[in-house]
Amino acid sequence: MLTPDCLILGGGIAGLWTLRTLLAEGYDALLVETEALGSGQTIASQAILHAGAKYALTGHAAEASRAAGEAAAVWRASLRGGALRAPSSPTQPPPSPAPDLTAVTVLSPHTHMFTTPGVASRITGLAASKALVSGPRKLARTESPAAFAAAPAGVDVYQLDEPVLDLPSLLHTLADPARDRLIHALAVSVARRPAREVSLAVSLETRDGPVTLAPRALVCTAGAGNERLLAQLELSPEIRMQRRPLHMVLARGVDLPHLYAHCVSLSDKPRATITTTTDDAGRTVWYIGGQLAESGVERSREDQIAEARAELAKIVPWIDTASLEFATHRVDRAEGLDEQGRRPDTPIVRRHASVIACWPTKLVLAPLAAASVRGRLAELGIEPTGNPPPPPPFPTPPIATPLWDREDLAWS
Ligand SMILES: Cc1cc2nc3c(=O)[nH]c(=O)nc-3n(C[C@H](O)[C@H](O)[C@H](O)COP(=O)(O)OP(=O)(O)OC[C@H]3O[C@@H](n4cnc5c(N)ncnc54)[C@H](O)[C@@H]3O)c2cc1C
Repeated sequence: MLTPDCLILGGGIAGLWTLRTLLAEGYDALLVETEALGSGQTIASQAILHAGAKYALTGHAAEASRAAGEAAAVWRASLRGGALRAPSSPTQPPPSPAPDLTAVTVLSPHTHMFTTPGVASRITGLAASKALVSGPRKLARTESPAAFAAAPAGVDVYQLDEPVLDLPSLLHTLADPARDRLIHALAVSVARRPAREVSLAVSLETRDGPVTLAPRALVCTAGAGNERLLAQLELSPEIRMQRRPLHMVLARGVDLPHLYAHCVSLSDKPRATITTTTDDAGRTVWYIGGQLAESGVERSREDQIAEARAELAKIVPWIDTASLEFATHRVDRAEGLDEQGRRPDTPIVRRHASVIACWPTKLVLAPLAAASVRGRLAELGIEPTGNPPPPPPFPTPPIATPLWDREDLAWS
C-alpha cells in the first residue's frame, strides 16, 4: 500500500498548482484525475489573469483586488521563469519557487475594456480607483488594438495589465514535469476511519488494476466533484460548496479580429467578456462570457445563440458577425462557501482532520490556494521528507481537449 504525505484528488488548476508547489518543497505527493487534466472548469475558463479590475467594477474591490494582485504577481514571476519571491518579512521562510511557466503561450499580454457610446463616465471613475492594482489606461485611438480600428466615436478603449493564457499549454507546462506523480483513475472511492486514530483509505480503479493508498493527508481539488468526495467522507455539513451555472457562447469565423476584452456597461458586471483562440482547423474562435453567460442560464441553446448574435450586433457593430457559426457550452462554477455561507472572493481552503478541501475561486488565485494547502499540511505536522523516490508507474491522465476542438460541440 502506498502512503504518500499527500494525495490530491482532481487535476484542474488547483490540483496541478498544489502538486507542483508540494513537489518543489520535497513532499511525497501524488495527484489522481478521473477524466482529463483540466476538464471541468479550468479548460472552460477564459484564462484571464485578473489583477483586480473585475472586482473594482463590482465595488467589492479591497480584499478581492488585493488577493488577485498578489496572485497575479506570482503568475508574472512564473511566466518569467519562476524566480523565488522575497519573503514579506525577515522572519518568514522564503516561499517555494513558483513553477517555471516560460513555456506557456500568452495569447495576449493585456485585456481591454471598452464602452458602448455613452457609458464612458463609469470607466473614467474606475480608472481613477486607488483600489486597483493595475489601473486601466485609456488608449488613444492610434494605440487601440486592430479590432477597434473601425469603431465609431464614443467607443472608449482601456488597457488592463491582465494577460490571457493558452490553456492547453498551461496544463502541459504544469503537468509534464510531474508526469510520474499523476494517476489516471477510472473510479475513486474515499473513506475515513475515525474509529481508530483518524486514517484515510483511498481505492482507485485504474486501467492496470486496483490501487489502494493510505495518504497522511487528502487534498480535494475536484471542483464540482468535491461535493461527492465530501459526501463520501461524511464531511458535507461541515464543509459546503455551491455551484453557479453559466451558459458560455463560442463564435467562429475566418476573418474575426482577435479580441481580449470586456464590454462594460452601467451594470456592475461586464456585459460580455470576449477572448480569442484558434481552433485545430485554423479558424478564429471568440469565447464569450460575462453577463451574457450568467443571464443565459435559463435560455435554450438556440435562444442563447440568438441572444449572442443580437448582443454582438449591438456591442461591436463595426465587426461583421452575421456570418459566424455559434455553439454554446454549459458549465458550473464550483466554489467553496465561507463560514457565513457567502460567495467567496478569495480561495476557500477548509480542513477537517487530515482532509483538506480547496476551491481556488478563480484560476488566477491558484497560487494562493496552493500556499494555503501547504499551510494546512504544516498545521497537521506533515513536513516534506526531502526527495521521495518515484512511485511505481501508473497510467497517466491525458490533457483535456479545448472546447472549440471538441467533436461533441454542435455548431450552427
Ligand atoms: C466559464 C468560466 C470562465 C472562467 N474564467 C476565468 C478567468 O478568466 N480567470 C480566472 O481567474 N478564473 C476564471 N474562471 C474560474 C476558474 O476557471 C476556476 O476557479 C478554476 O478553474 C477552478 O479550478 P479547480 O482546479 O478547482 O477545478 P476544475 O478545473 O473544475 O478541476 C477539477 C478536476 O477534478 C476532476 N475530478 C472530479 N472528481 C474527481 C474525483 N472524484 N477524483 C479525482 N478527480 C476528480 C475533474 O475531472 C477536473 O479535472 C472561470 C470559470 C468558468 C466556469
